[in-house]
Amino acid sequence: MELLENVKARVFKFGNKSADGNSSMRNLLGGKGANLAEMSAIGIPVPPGFTITTEVCTEYNLLGKEAVFEMIKDEVEEAIANIESAMGSEFGDKDNPLLISVRSGARVSMPGMMDTVLNLGMNDEVVLGLAKKTNNEKFAWDSYRRFIQMYGGVVLGMKPESKEDIDPFEEIMEHLKEKRGIVLDTEFSIQDLQDLVYDFKDAVKKRTGHDFPTNPWDQLWGAVIAVFNSWNGDRAVYYRNMHGYPADWGTAVNVQAMVYGNMGDHSGTGVCFTRDAGTGENVFNGEYLINAQGEDVVAGVRTPQQITKLGSQRWAELAKIEEEDRAENYPSLEELMPGIFKELNEYQDILEKHYRDMQDMEFTIQEGKLWILQTRNGKRTGAAMVKIAMDLLKEGMIDEKEALLLVEPNKLDELLHPVFDPKALKRANIIAQGLPASPGAATGKIVFFADEASKFKSSILVRIETSPEDLEGMNIAKGILTARGGMTSHAAVVARGMGKCCISGAGALKINYKTRTLTVGDHEYHEGDWISLNGSTGNIIEGKVATKEPELSGEFAELMELADKYGVMKVRTNADTPNDAKVARGFGAQGIGLTRTEHMFFEVDRIKAMREMILADTVKGRKQALEELLPMQREDFEGIFEAMEGLAVTIRLLDPPLHEFVPHQLATQKELAEEMHISLQAVKNKVAELEEFNPMLGHRGCRLGNTYPEITEMQTRAIIEAALNLKERGIICKPEIMVPLVGTVKEFEEQESIIRNTADTIFEERNDKIEYLVGTMIEIPRAALMADLIAEKADFFSFGTNDLTQMTFGYSRDDAGKFLPIYIEKGILKVDPFEVLDQEGVGQLVKIGTERGRSTKPNLKVGICGEHGGEPSSVEFCYHTGMDYVSCSPYRVPIARLVSAQAAIKATL
Ligand code: PEP
Ligand code: MG
Repeated sequence: MELLENVKARVFKFGNKSADGNSSMRNLLGGKGANLAEMSAIGIPVPPGFTITTEVCTEYNLLGKEAVFEMIKDEVEEAIANIESAMGSEFGDKDNPLLISVRSGARVSMPGMMDTVLNLGMNDEVVLGLAKKTNNEKFAWDSYRRFIQMYGGVVLGMKPESKEDIDPFEEIMEHLKEKRGIVLDTEFSIQDLQDLVYDFKDAVKKRTGHDFPTNPWDQLWGAVIAVFNSWNGDRAVYYRNMHGYPADWGTAVNVQAMVYGNMGDHSGTGVCFTRDAGTGENVFNGEYLINAQGEDVVAGVRTPQQITKLGSQRWAELAKIEEEDRAENYPSLEELMPGIFKELNEYQDILEKHYRDMQDMEFTIQEGKLWILQTRNGKRTGAAMVKIAMDLLKEGMIDEKEALLLVEPNKLDELLHPVFDPKALKRANIIAQGLPASPGAATGKIVFFADEASKFKSSILVRIETSPEDLEGMNIAKGILTARGGMTSHAAVVARGMGKCCISGAGALKINYKTRTLTVGDHEYHEGDWISLNGSTGNIIEGKVATKEPELSGEFAELMELADKYGVMKVRTNADTPNDAKVARGFGAQGIGLTRTEHMFFEVDRIKAMREMILADTVKGRKQALEELLPMQREDFEGIFEAMEGLAVTIRLLDPPLHEFVPHQLATQKELAEEMHISLQAVKNKVAELEEFNPMLGHRGCRLGNTYPEITEMQTRAIIEAALNLKERGIICKPEIMVPLVGTVKEFEEQESIIRNTADTIFEERNDKIEYLVGTMIEIPRAALMADLIAEKADFFSFGTNDLTQMTFGYSRDDAGKFLPIYIEKGILKVDPFEVLDQEGVGQLVKIGTERGRSTKPNLKVGICGEHGGEPSSVEFCYHTGMDYVSCSPYRVPIARLVSAQAAIKATL
């Protein structure tokens, strides 16, 4: 305890453009407290306040309430006095009252730990003072009833008593609404609000046995203790345990002056961004509303105005509003309050330079005075993210490593999906225009309700406005269209976060939920009709518009070049066709890590020969069918080698269970019987014979090649001959032949000798040769454990983490869909291990396999080709395991390239 008693300050003040603390004091002041202090210290006008440290929370837990009051009483009183002088008002004063907010703030953000208490300091007298001061009686009483509701719930434990009950305050409000025949909270009259305050206090007395505290100081101490207690509340303990945060971290308490944007025409509130969150363009932008509270801007009920004149003019152009009308009725903040705008513009500049990233700020103007409430690194689209990172680099604000680390790998995904085909766009019939809230192209069938978004394969969610309940549907829909709301409406913000195309505030749309229709002018569209959205221009287009593949160009290409400069681990692709290979090379793939040869056999002209091969009863018959397949395979390989000229191409021998290829429908069975001149019964018998109880663990992988060596021979021949043919044309190719599903050394040896013998025979036939490797997948746990012996024979390893996950967990890849979602919902598993590599378990086998393999062959080439090869956290793990490359689907190649660079950079920090 000695140490704790020696701590000097327990309360840290901020405000008046100075602060006792700064952002490096996260552990002591919590994240929120440290940030408020930092902003104030660099001259930003944040509403004044103070932070009671996290250590006081720990002291409270050890020593109890009275001891802690004694310790901090003087400091808190001094800090309140400080706020009073900064705001020119007084805590508890009935004529000129200071109201405050109280919030928790741990060193890491802990959602749901404790709700905020706003308007603290309110009582029956103060409310009158506030009404007079603001000249807004309704606002004052509404603030009062909200305060009792929040304080009652958070501090006095006025929560529903059982899960069937509703919130006790909500219940009172519902009764009153029924009595008055009204629906919305905003419809309450002043008298209603006064009645609510009375009834709320009555309910508190009945339930707790005490009067609602009227003394502001009692209210404050009650709230402080409630914040400390919340640290040990069920929700916080659960969250802490889940993330492994120790109990002795404690939470800080942040107390801050309330400021109001709804105090008349010289007040207002807004949200702004230092750069365009949609495109990344370096223009200050945002929206505001005069005489409004923060939530009014995002609620989408009133149409917000633009901060800058340029933004306002751009907005008016989209909204088809004449300049005169705009200047008169929708002026920008720049025009309406030039002084405030100038100040705000200065702060956005200071904040961006200080945090060295695009900022998303919230501000309030209270009677002509500007307050910055919050700043944080702004959410942005994938395109904006790349542009901002590269622009900040060019502007010299950050260095190359920082630019790479600023980009969130998964968000690149947005840039790797189709965009509208410009030719198709030219013919498009634009039916209306809204705000380009989140860029991209989306085409789909209209749905009007979020919970029906999955009704069609591709849907566009069309709403008057969206709300948090719509989240899931918004995620499912291909795009979102709203009739109301601005660039910071719920729909716009959420869509940008999701990287989903969104158009908001399309005022020309008339949406009727009852008839499920959308009317534009005299045209009516129904649920299920196709529409297309261009989230980059705000154009709403009738029908389905063709899309085209995206390209790596501009800043994106520059970023990727930079990634390759720092990335050590290479990135290959999984590609089964020459076209996939070309696309992947366009995305910067440095070779192929997996070609699944079975996929080539599914094409119509090949499946027949494949089926004949499988149905053959003799080696001779099988060889005959394979002869037919040989030229087709060879041609495929030539195409792939050519697309990957000069780079390594790993081709895997046939892997899947044979029954996947035989026909299971009677009609196709008959067809096959006729073609092969055998009886239908013979086909049926063969199909039955191939049926397996557990195909994933059955006759597949190298077990096929070892039981039917002629398959391996044919595939080897196709690979080697293709390579030799290209060599004749002067094209260099580097084939790597890969044996799947090896569990024992002998399995590999058998295959290897077939491959090498076949290759030698061809070299002799052609009197020419090429270099090639023979390696193996490591996808059976036994192979990882026996890796030292396997590496004596194999030229390379490629971890097949799909099968390795299947066999390590014992979860069938084909059946896991039945229980994995439930496991994740229940928290039994945090994520789907088939998507995100289980580093703890499966990862051990990957490490063991690599280490043991390299203990025999120090330079053994090691890679991964399971689905995890394109998932950021797994790619980072592969880097730390010392892999030479990861291999992933073409569209994930840029993501893996970036992660490879980020992992290498992080390792040097
Ligand atoms: C694997 O198992 O990880 C793999 C790449 O092979 P497949 O998915 O084809 O079984
Ligand atoms: Mg596999």
